[in-house]
Amino acid sequence: MAEERRKTRQRDIILTVLKDMKTHPTVDEIYDRVKKQLPHISLATVYRNLEKLAENGMARVVNSGARQMHYDGDMSNHYHIKCIKCGKVADVWGEINLNLEQDGLDFTGFKVTSYSILFEGICRDCSLTVSGSRSKKNKNEKNTVTSIQ
Ligand SMILES: [Zn+2]
Ligand SMILES: [Zn+2]
Repeated sequence: MAEERRKTRQRDIILTVLKDMKTHPTVDEIYDRVKKQLPHISLATVYRNLEKLAENGMARVVNSGARQMHYDGDMSNHYHIKCIKCGKVADVWGEINLNLEQDGLDFTGFKVTSYSILFEGICRDCSLTVSGSRSKKNKNEKNTVTSIQ
């Protein structure tokens, strides 16, 4: 019983942490936060719990094609967009008419049950960097990297 309760508590904390983060964190990022509340938890446990939450429809996995999956605690209907420069994943809200022709998939022999769409682009931060304007405020950044001038 105590074991069950401990597990439920772990899962609740992980879900709360995930819902708090609006950045579509990776398991490592979630683990870093969860550790503050559960210092003895392992990365594998966090990972297992995230998988469970996703299975139960309480969280979702965003596959951005990067080595690590991103997780999202916001289950409302939205799409995602990934920055091809920095890998950041952001939300896309609102109706987007994609005009998917289901019939066109018949030839695959698959019965289509769902689909996922990931848009790609260049985020605002990255496009500013690209255009050369140094808009980044370095106030909080320690310059550990020697920048090329
Ligand atoms: Zn970016
Ligand atoms: Zn999202």
